[in-house]
Amino acid sequence: MTYIPEIEEDEEFPKPPIKRRSIKDTVSVCPKCMYPTKYIPAVFGTPQRICTNDDCGWSGTITIEVTREDYEEFMKNRNIELDMEKNGK
Ligand SMILES: [Zn+2]
Repeated sequence: MTYIPEIEEDEEFPKPPIKRRSIKDTVSVCPKCMYPTKYIPAVFGTPQRICTNDDCGWSGTITIEVTREDYEEFMKNRNIELDMEKNGK
């Protein structure tokens, strides 16, 4: 057994940095083609999202939430240029 000495120092325990992520920092992407999705206000009760990729045409409520950083990196790797500001909230 290892003896763990009691810490008597008044030093504050270092806290891990907390990353506060606002909604702006995440992107809802299409589960089918990984393009960003656009928010559609509730018409039939349930708010929906649709894919911004015309070739995909996906619509639904379950998207993949990724951080904007990761997503931009992902898109860069796929050589897809997107105007992220156009993506609906
Ligand atoms: Zn799609």
